[in-house]
Amino acid sequence: MVEVARKKIEPVRSVKGTRDLLPPETGLWQRVEEEARRVFEAYNFREIRTPVLEETALFRRSVGVDTDIVTKEMYTFEDRDRESLTLRPEATASVVRAYIEHSLFNEGGIHKFYYLGPMFRRERPQKGRFRQFYQIGAEVLGSDHPAVDVELLEMLTLLVERLGLRDVRLLVNSVGCARCRPEYVKILKQALEGVKSKLCADCQRRAETNPLRVFDCKVEADQATIAGLPRIIDHLCPECRQHFDLVTRGLKERNISYSIEPRLVRGLDYYTRTTFEMTSGALGAQNALMGGGRYDGLAELLGGPPTPGFGVAIGEDRLLLAVAEAGALEPSSPLGAYIAWMGDGAYGPAQKLARELRHSGLSVEIGYDARKLKKSLGAASKLGARFAIILGEGELASGRYQVKDMTSGQQEEVEPARIAAHLKQRIGTGFRSLAG
Ligand code: AMP
Repeated sequence: MVEVARKKIEPVRSVKGTRDLLPPETGLWQRVEEEARRVFEAYNFREIRTPVLEETALFRRSVGVDTDIVTKEMYTFEDRDRESLTLRPEATASVVRAYIEHSLFNEGGIHKFYYLGPMFRRERPQKGRFRQFYQIGAEVLGSDHPAVDVELLEMLTLLVERLGLRDVRLLVNSVGCARCRPEYVKILKQALEGVKSKLCADCQRRAETNPLRVFDCKVEADQATIAGLPRIIDHLCPECRQHFDLVTRGLKERNISYSIEPRLVRGLDYYTRTTFEMTSGALGAQNALMGGGRYDGLAELLGGPPTPGFGVAIGEDRLLLAVAEAGALEPSSPLGAYIAWMGDGAYGPAQKLARELRHSGLSVEIGYDARKLKKSLGAASKLGARFAIILGEGELASGRYQVKDMTSGQQEEVEPARIAAHLKQRIGTGFRSLAG
């Protein structure tokens, strides 16, 4: 016999910094997304879906040409017609682009959007940091009222509460506006002149190019010096001061606890007034669960009419880490029932019952081949079914099937027509009907 030499084929692996999300973990992702949708829609936010691919210019203009995202982290490539395209590193710019492109400002009033989806940044992968990661975001366009800020923060507090997260902190700050920030930056620059030599090389460069960025520094030895720098909230103009006071007052009135974090600045011109972050004690080094703020200058920067905006981007990967640790949320769609049928005559009634239960919204599995009872129950248990429904010749003759609770082992005889209601009652809140 001739041996045919077979070349070993190397399996293709996922790209560094990206990953597959597999069941049952995806069940938890779905639950989190479902909860986010529910909470956002309760606050009258509606979903927007924008493309993953955008013209590079969108992010250069909005995120800014001297940011790490634009200089080092974007997946940018030239398309076949030489157009420069980028996989979105964030979605606020896309939402504002869409708002302008579809002239939604003509409708007047306030627009509230939410989105969910993958973002791409070429960062160094580590726990809670990926190159393809997911964000859930919400944006309010068309109002600069401080109540918008407070309401969105209330919504986020409700979301983390409903996800069962503890140990979450809300940090807030104000970065002023185009009127008061330049004055503050001058003061900051002066203060930096005096202490620059004590700071790292990056900070020395930032002190010249974009002094606000000094506050992003993570170098341990620099922290004491940075803590002594002048704080922007002590240099706000009267309007920005009033906005900030109304936001913090609103938070107090709604019993939302927060801390003022003077280091929370965004060194881009279009950011105005409120900035915030929520951190989670469950996350370790990458503890920022979400971040956001007011961006009253962004629409203009993208060629639209002046339109105030306020938004948040939640890191869904990190949210999931925190949710898994809190353990308060059940993954969606657990397997409700496994139908264990025996004897060829039982297959017809068994699959009829499966169809009825499935149509009533229950997740149901059924074996395709006739099996012994023990094997079927083994399969039910392996799949994590809450109930096994047993039907063989005896059950068909009596017209009552055996319904076995796989957790307690208890078994009851139930007429087929009553099984859906019987299971619904026992599965309780875990039961989600297709009928709504
Ligand atoms: P940003 O858009 O940079 O304000 O980020 C908002 C949130 O997205 C952060 O608070 C993180 O939770 C999350 N995030 C940002 N970059 C990454 C990343 N590379 N991997 C995972 N999550 C990220």
